[in-house]
Amino acid sequence: MLATATATPAAPPPAHSPHRATVGLAVPAAHARGRIGPNAITRVAEALLEEVGAETRREIFAGARLEGYLRDPPQHMVEEQEVMALHDVLRARLAPEHVRRVNRDAGVRTGAYLLARRIPRPVQKLLRILPAPLAARVLVTAIRRHAWTFAGTADFSAQSGRPVSFTLAGCPMCRGARTDAPCCDFYTACFEHLFRTLVHRRAAVCETACAAAGHVHCRFEVRW
Ligand SMILES: [Zn+2]
Repeated sequence: MLATATATPAAPPPAHSPHRATVGLAVPAAHARGRIGPNAITRVAEALLEEVGAETRREIFAGARLEGYLRDPPQHMVEEQEVMALHDVLRARLAPEHVRRVNRDAGVRTGAYLLARRIPRPVQKLLRILPAPLAARVLVTAIRRHAWTFAGTADFSAQSGRPVSFTLAGCPMCRGARTDAPCCDFYTACFEHLFRTLVHRRAAVCETACAAAGHVHCRFEVRW
């Protein structure tokens, strides 16, 4: 989802991308349409194992026709429809509070993966010593540049300031869903983990609008 301007990308660009060699730089949305980084599958698999155990996890992945990913976890970008199918089955099979815990856990795991593998240590060190508003601006820019790795066909936009805000129109985590409350906790938790680690330890992210709950788009606000 994020790699910063100087890092390798969070997930390899599609094989046909002419930008494959220009690691870490923004790839035009048209080249990545309909595909999402594998963390959206692999981290959900890890979180499900903790939350519901191996057998229920297998049933959920089978219900989404993704059982093969448990045996052979995806290493590259996956089809957006696969992520949507997994989340449809999650919502159908589990109680809302379970879905929420799984998605939050998966989002934190994704953030931790990005910090461990994709965001260079010197960049992390710099962000931690910058004043929070400046660090936030740098992080927002990096997230915007790498939206192609996590937004699929959604239109992503980001706004620096207080609060920082992100919007996803056509969010792949909740497209077609109807819920009583915002439900895109995977993104909420991932953004929060990154902001808490790199910008301010008390940063909190709230999904203030969600397409599944009847709003025009999903909107996430970051405050500290
Ligand atoms: Zn949402």
